[in-house]
Amino acid sequence: MTVVTRFAPSPTGYLHVGGARTALFSYLFARANKGKFILRIEDTDRERSTQESVDAIFQGMEWLGLEHDGEVYFQTERFDRYKEKVQQLLDEDKAYYCTCSKERLDEIREKQMQNGEKPRYDGKCRHLNLPNSDDAVVRFKNPTDGDVVFDDYVRGVITTSNKELDDLIIARPDGTPTYNFTVVIDDVDMQISHVIRGDDHINNTPRQINIYHALGAELPRFAHLPMILGDDGARLSKRHGAVSVMEYAKNGYLPEAVLNYLVRLGWSYEDKELFTKDEMIELFDLKKVNRAPSSFNTSKLDWINQQYIQNADTSRLAELLKNRYNDSGIQVPQNLNLNQVVEMFKARSTTINAMADSSLFLLQDITEYDENTVKKVFKESAIEPLQTLITKCNEIDDWSNADLHGLIEETVNDLQVGFGKVGQPLRVALTGQSSGPANDEIMKILGKEETLKRIQQALSVVKENITNQ
Ligand code: GLU
Repeated sequence: MTVVTRFAPSPTGYLHVGGARTALFSYLFARANKGKFILRIEDTDRERSTQESVDAIFQGMEWLGLEHDGEVYFQTERFDRYKEKVQQLLDEDKAYYCTCSKERLDEIREKQMQNGEKPRYDGKCRHLNLPNSDDAVVRFKNPTDGDVVFDDYVRGVITTSNKELDDLIIARPDGTPTYNFTVVIDDVDMQISHVIRGDDHINNTPRQINIYHALGAELPRFAHLPMILGDDGARLSKRHGAVSVMEYAKNGYLPEAVLNYLVRLGWSYEDKELFTKDEMIELFDLKKVNRAPSSFNTSKLDWINQQYIQNADTSRLAELLKNRYNDSGIQVPQNLNLNQVVEMFKARSTTINAMADSSLFLLQDITEYDENTVKKVFKESAIEPLQTLITKCNEIDDWSNADLHGLIEETVNDLQVGFGKVGQPLRVALTGQSSGPANDEIMKILGKEETLKRIQQALSVVKENITNQ
């Protein structure tokens, strides 16, 4: 059997984490089985579907590297096909026109609720053989007895009595088809072998299976993926932070890290945490998908992202870093070597944005010093170290090959003080803060002129502080 899976989003918003996880699992299953992965846009709800969402879905899929095979299908381009199939079921007496008014439906629903019954259509028009009319919907003749049984990859065997199901509307009065019908027609036409989707659709599956039977079509296998919860146990939603995949791009996550994070949402392989895409394809197993909901955990994502940043190509990160600065309206000085900046921060940044924030002092003049640090560090005892550093820096001709660490050590030795007495004021001079990368590395990146400028500026501030005291 050729494996064909599909991702079938409704374009009513961005590509969110749950959708991306569904797409990834469908993609991996297809790739692992040398099959096909189809992208189908379920845009029949014309009021809620937008081109913007379609674009956002494409963009998210592309960013994550989830390439689909062949053309993209749009349900709105397939209305003729659905009509034809509705007609077929009508002709074969497997569907019928129904003209029950909303009032009547409301009334029976209310009665059923009062009697503690599950609300369902009572089948009034089922045997009336009504002709088509402006207000008629088409209902599917659901079998009235027997069970629908299917073996879900994740949930195991699920049995539903047909008595629980009613005659589903498959076409509205204006002729437009409904979700449960179009999805079956498409999955049959596109020869989908495995339907992998969120478990919010699990109740639709028995209804859809009855439609497969009515069409004489072979059933696919189903896999319903457990939902994703936020850290607080509620279903993942906007209020848990970024749920749009592209927001992660904006926030400085690498696509391979997000993909790696997504694959672990409801699936695991031994205690392995990091997977390349090839490893995912090789090791992914639909049968091992967890039944229990998985929880979204931002610190885990951060950890994974950090691992990928550490191992990513420096010039690629430099490009991302540059874009990040530019997006925030910050110009990168001509003489600043971003590769060096990346090398310096690679091992300690969880995201590109964090890297941009912590390296910003390299790009901008120091206009402010951390207040507490100034109190602690910019004291009289800082004057001599800063002056000595200025003298020593001035003596250097070839800055890029200079032993700047040695220069700092020499200052310490000359002045016969502890390392901190030199290192701390120097760090504050260079960064405005009390922590950061090694001073000599910062000096190297800043260059001679900028380094001197910063130490001199700090020296004036120290002197000013002392006179003001
Ligand atoms: N269009 C449906 C949705 O976005 C998915 C349908 C399916 O996968 O069967 O929820």
